[in-house]
Amino acid sequence: MKTIGYAAKAVNTPLAPHEFDQRELRANDVAMEVLYCGVCHSDLHMARDDWGWSSFPLIPGHEIIGRVTAVGADVTKYKVGDNVAVGCMVDSCQHCDQCHKGEEQFCREGMTLTYSGPDRITGEMTMGGYSKHLVAREEFVLRVPDGLDLSKAAPLLCAGITTFSPLRTWGVKEGSRVAVIGLGGLGHMAVKLAVGMGAQVTVLSRTADKEADARALGAERLLVSSDAVAMAEAANSFDLIIDTVPVKHDLMPYLPLLDIDGTLVLVGQLGPVETIDTLPLLLGRRRVTGSPIGGIRETQELLDFAAEKNILPEVEMIRIQDINHAFERLERADVRYRFVIDMASLEPAGA
Ligand code: NAP
Ligand code: ZN
Repeated sequence: MKTIGYAAKAVNTPLAPHEFDQRELRANDVAMEVLYCGVCHSDLHMARDDWGWSSFPLIPGHEIIGRVTAVGADVTKYKVGDNVAVGCMVDSCQHCDQCHKGEEQFCREGMTLTYSGPDRITGEMTMGGYSKHLVAREEFVLRVPDGLDLSKAAPLLCAGITTFSPLRTWGVKEGSRVAVIGLGGLGHMAVKLAVGMGAQVTVLSRTADKEADARALGAERLLVSSDAVAMAEAANSFDLIIDTVPVKHDLMPYLPLLDIDGTLVLVGQLGPVETIDTLPLLLGRRRVTGSPIGGIRETQELLDFAAEKNILPEVEMIRIQDINHAFERLERADVRYRFVIDMASLEPAGA
């Protein structure tokens, strides 16, 4: 089937309409019309080929809310008309130990990314959610719980799960002391989800501009990371720090903020950080680690948790025609706190 999306035709070119062939429905496939798609900072990294694995033409988008339009013969979980969601991956080997554990993001043969990943059968590159239609195998399609506002839910599929997973992995519960570095798409979800788990949350931001927002999101306070006095006073006061900064940066100002046995989880920068002095690690048995997205089972848990606690992303709705401007604003952290594309703004091919 012919469909249409917004693609970067080459590295660093503006996104523009692009027609492409959607693959034929396989027996275990679900086809959907994309209703909403979130705009993740990773989409920007990929359009610029920051990580060296982008394939062009590239249609980004991995925070997808859709409505089922057709299902393959063997599909049992979904039917036409269901509200569904797709996140950062659309396939994996399904037989390794990690897939069996429901941690498909660690698939031993490599997960198939929702966009710019080779299809496991045809080798064709996958195309993401900045498009009118999407096809994914049933196991990677999530159910949107009743009551979750479809127009706001999309960012849960990446910003949400990428922060929910480390909060769960490192056992955040009532009374946990959590700090979040960078109040953007991932950061604001980290705050809401940690608060939803009963944690006491602090935001670490570059300026005081987002202080009122941080409190409105449920944080107890915002510390300006360049304020040496405030940072010194916060020494030894966190069990977990979620670091969402999207570029190379210095971890040294943050490590002393961890209490003994505390953990700093990198979820933002993929690549080098400034040199680390091991002193705060050894003397406080502190850890620095990282975490990629989350498994399908955990993503469904997140969607159910968000519906139960009424935790929704803060979104600014845009039209697909405004995506290049949105990228520019995302680059300078001028979004509170996630752009979501209303895909009804994209006319179908031939319309
Ligand atoms: P975002 O909305 O742009 O937010 C990033 C925040 O980091 C900004 O709001 C800003 O917060 C802070 N920041 C921005 N530039 C900075 C700089 N130069 N130095 C220090 N702080 C800076 O981005 P996002 O969508 O949340 O994504 C964040 C990162 O996570 C990206 O690199 C993305 O690729 C990555 N990511 C990783 C995964 C994963 O699986 N681990 C999944 C999705 C995304 P303040 O203004 O408060 O300082
Ligand atoms: Zn993302």
